[in-house]
Amino acid sequence: MTMQATGFDETKIFPLQKEDPNNRLYRMIDNIPLAVMTVDPVTYKIDYVNKTSKELVRSIEHLLPIKTDDLVGSSIDVFHENPERQRQILRDPANLPFNARISLGPELLDLKISAITADDGSFLGPMLTWAIVTQKVAAKEKIRQLAHYDTLTGLANRTTFNERLKERLNASDDGPGLLYIDLDGFKLVNDTRGHNIGDELLKCVAEKLRNLGEDEDITIGRLGGDEFAILVPYNDPARMEAFASRVIAELSSPRSIEYHRKIHISASIGIAYAPAHGTTGEELQKNADIALYAAKKAGKRCYRMFSEKMRIDMYERLRLQERLSSALRDNRNIFLYYQPIIDVKTGQTMGREALIRWYQPDRGWVSPTDFIPVAENSDLIDRLGEFVLTKACCDAADWDDGLPVAVNVSAAQLGRDTLTSMVRAALAKSGLSHDRLEIEVTETAVLNNEAGAIRDLLQIRDLGVRVALDDFGTGFSSLTHLLSFPFDKIKIDGSFVQDAVQRKKAAAIVGAIAGLGARLGVTTVAEGVETQDQLRLVVREGCKAIQGFHTGRPAPMANDAHVIAALTGKTPASIITDIKGPSSLHPH
Ligand code: C2E
Ligand code: MG
Ligand code: MG
Repeated sequence: MTMQATGFDETKIFPLQKEDPNNRLYRMIDNIPLAVMTVDPVTYKIDYVNKTSKELVRSIEHLLPIKTDDLVGSSIDVFHENPERQRQILRDPANLPFNARISLGPELLDLKISAITADDGSFLGPMLTWAIVTQKVAAKEKIRQLAHYDTLTGLANRTTFNERLKERLNASDDGPGLLYIDLDGFKLVNDTRGHNIGDELLKCVAEKLRNLGEDEDITIGRLGGDEFAILVPYNDPARMEAFASRVIAELSSPRSIEYHRKIHISASIGIAYAPAHGTTGEELQKNADIALYAAKKAGKRCYRMFSEKMRIDMYERLRLQERLSSALRDNRNIFLYYQPIIDVKTGQTMGREALIRWYQPDRGWVSPTDFIPVAENSDLIDRLGEFVLTKACCDAADWDDGLPVAVNVSAAQLGRDTLTSMVRAALAKSGLSHDRLEIEVTETAVLNNEAGAIRDLLQIRDLGVRVALDDFGTGFSSLTHLLSFPFDKIKIDGSFVQDAVQRKKAAAIVGAIAGLGARLGVTTVAEGVETQDQLRLVVREGCKAIQGFHTGRPAPMANDAHVIAALTGKTPASIITDIKGPSSLHPH
């Protein structure tokens, strides 16, 4: 290696070279695994390039206007788009050391320019040490992406989202606003169409959210599963509600992911904003989540703005959950009532439905429509389900008339491969004949996880236990569900039956369901029959059985009636109303 003369006294920089080109120091600099170049501060010509530098330049030669071997003596300007700026830096030692990252085509170079000074402090010239950092930067970026962004959708992950939320809260007194989004029906798509389609759907949702927020300074995050969140830089409730409406409308429009098959989902949103609903990230998130729960409870596909009442309701639910847990643990104050189901042809009771009842000494009776959802949202539903199944089977085994008993099973119990063993255990413990047990499920319960639910129900049916479809006429009333599983009974929802007397159309639908039942060889039961008029109507429309206050209210077994009497201060006789059902269907 020789150094070429460049018009300035290079012996000042490399005095050793002139004396002994082979000396160790010179060799060291030449071989050091660091790319080094020196530049004449007057002419800006490169006057020294070490070996490592040459190798590196060779690897990017195609991006440069000169060849590696011609570097020494060439102007340093070839490396820069803005040579004048570079010259300014190189010229004045006061600017040094100077670090820069420059891009050269697709490559990134990190450059450090330092001043070489003589013993007396005079400036001998600049020295450039440099490296190609393209891959290192890409790897770093990849790690950053992985740490901060969701790999599937590219949206901010939970950590990043939380950081942004914190930054926003620190940055301004007004806002931000927080929208928590949960997809309705996503689990169903994932379970029935497979995870690949589920993933595609999530990507599609992310894309839609990105497009929606294009013109706003917002952060969109995927917090996990099918949970998304949007941070908006304002806290005007009307504006947030308008935005939430747009999000719901956009996410609820059907999309084609598979050829010829459209996917229908929707979204529920909970909104909270600072400072009204919290001044810390945790508080806002908790409250947006509470509001989201309220939106789900209000029927999904809607948004709810957080309110203090929602928080109180939540604590109430938690208290209820604790109380229910200890009531179930101690088998205290929880009972089963039985309501007769009457065969319209014979007027005789053909079976009884078990309905759970819970008495709280300080609050009275709590409706199952209030505490079943609480149990469903915790693991209590399994204990409750087991209690009901076992007790109903044991009670029915004691009945003199040998009638069947119907037991309600909740959505949360289906599709988890646990129900069949629970049913089997209850039958074994009670000794009840399998054909005397009937399981009631609602259509929505089946819908939640169709494949899993149907698998459970088929296993139950294989045991010789019958299965009824409850509350038909509300929800989806889909004929597909009647085909997807061989139900033994269809129960037409009470609200529907009650409507039928006033509205001809409702009556026609009751008739149509009864007709459908007859064609399918399935018994149709009209629920919630309260009056003689309703009774007459449902019989005329072809229902095969009825259940309702008109023909018998739910009532407990005699031994429970005594406990309940002591608990409520009533007489056992007033509690046991009509466990056996009426003797005649036509009392008037
Ligand atoms: P469901 O299974 O459809 O039960 C029928 C409901 O209608 C019962 O309400 C019953 O008391 C009520 N009912 C019966 N006849 C009449 C009538 O003529 N008029 C009116 N207005 N109502 C009538 P209940 O006992 O409050 O139960 C409500 C729901 O809670 C049940 O609806 C069922 O879905 C659920 N449930 C009740 N017990 C259990 C249980 O042990 N396990 C599960 N998972 N769910 C249960
Ligand atoms: Mg039922
Ligand atoms: Mg029902």
